[in-house]
Amino acid sequence: MDHDALRDWSKRAADWAHAYHAGLRDRPVRAPLVPGTVAGALPAAAPEAPEPMAAIWADFERLVPGAMTHWQHPRFFAYFPANAAPASMLAEQLANAMAAQCMLWQTSPAASEMETVTVGWLRDALGLPDHFAGTIHDSATTATLAAVVTMRERALGHAGNAEGLAGGPRLRLYATAETHSSVDKAARVAGIGQANLVRVPTDADLAMDAGALAAAIAADRAAGLQPAGVILCAGGTSVGAFDRIGECVAVARAAGLPAHVDAAWAGSAMICPEFRALWAGVEGADSVVVNPHKWLGAQFDCTVQFIADPAPQIRALGLKPAYLATAGVSAVTDYNDWTIPLGRRFRALKLWFVLRAYGLEGLRARIRNHVAWAAGLAAELARLPGVEIVTPPVLGLFTFALAAGDGPTEALLARINDDGRVYLTPTRHRGRAVIRVSVGQFDCTRDDVMTVAAVVAGLLGRTG
Ligand SMILES: *Cc1c(COP(=O)(O)O)cnc(C)c1O
Repeated sequence: MDHDALRDWSKRAADWAHAYHAGLRDRPVRAPLVPGTVAGALPAAAPEAPEPMAAIWADFERLVPGAMTHWQHPRFFAYFPANAAPASMLAEQLANAMAAQCMLWQTSPAASEMETVTVGWLRDALGLPDHFAGTIHDSATTATLAAVVTMRERALGHAGNAEGLAGGPRLRLYATAETHSSVDKAARVAGIGQANLVRVPTDADLAMDAGALAAAIAADRAAGLQPAGVILCAGGTSVGAFDRIGECVAVARAAGLPAHVDAAWAGSAMICPEFRALWAGVEGADSVVVNPHKWLGAQFDCTVQFIADPAPQIRALGLKPAYLATAGVSAVTDYNDWTIPLGRRFRALKLWFVLRAYGLEGLRARIRNHVAWAAGLAAELARLPGVEIVTPPVLGLFTFALAAGDGPTEALLARINDDGRVYLTPTRHRGRAVIRVSVGQFDCTRDDVMTVAAVVAGLLGRTG
């Protein structure tokens, strides 16, 4: 295949994409498939001889779309959204066409400079103060790992990278049980160890108990352990828990510790000033992670980490061998020094396209709709006999269950997803099996959201 053929097939791909999106409402959201179906349909080895694109394309149409869970389906209410706005998809086509490695300013000046500018636009749009710089990572997992490695190096006087961790002090991290598993992963991968991730108790609102945080830090110090940093939750993945950021940042500050705020999902909502009370005090954090690839329409991968002072992170992660030195250029930002992988995609382009094509008002209107529709749906479900709202809506997220208990709730969820019109996922809350509803799909309508109540009512009616 050459670039002339690519032009023709790209047009066909654009038509295919248009038809795919137009037909999404007619597909079941989750693929009704048994494991092994796709693998079993593929040959055991790669072909020795080139195959015609028409054959590859036909197999794609035959094997793939029907075996996917459709994340862009307007009735996808599982996990969190992973929106791909059309303007973002267009930007990705252009980034793909150039296929640049955006590791250094020199390897991609437009990408580096656009990253600086769009991260600044987003910072201002979220109401974060302008002392925050930032960078774009592939995922919140990696951004949090970068923050935790920086915490480690700060705690060790930047000796960990050079000398390793053996024989050093036992480092401690603090977070509640509501934080995402990426915090556990960061504790593991950074060499701090899962056992040193201290689970600070939460109060009745699932928010970190700031007094308990202070006590845990003091107890660790008294025991000869070395606190390294605090990770705060602004919109937990299970049921949307928020720590009281200001109070906990103040405790971290007083103890001389950095604080990292995980707002991967909920951060996007902060483009609406009325939601900012949820993360009040965030301006005091050392870093904040927000995923525009969840709720803002810039498709995966696009995670922004805002950093109050990039110097410690650059010292922890920056590494410039001679073959990467840029001769004769100074005063440029090489973002590979801020992030873990060397190679970087041109992610700022889709953020730039999305922010311009929808405007902050367009994005705010979508998020406000999602929040209002989630509340409307919760009210509708609460009216059904035997249905209980277990955690009330936090932005677009709430959970419900059947009063009859875990077994019937789990059976109901299986039947909802087998029905195919909507897709919901489970979690546990205070030991109880609950069903999550996460509203935030870019193209959903109020009717799509209310379909959840119609499906549940229908299934409950049928059970009698
Ligand atoms: C989704 C999510 C993550 C993980 O995000 P990735 O970008 O997939 O790594 C982390 N924290 C929270 C709160 C999330 O919602």
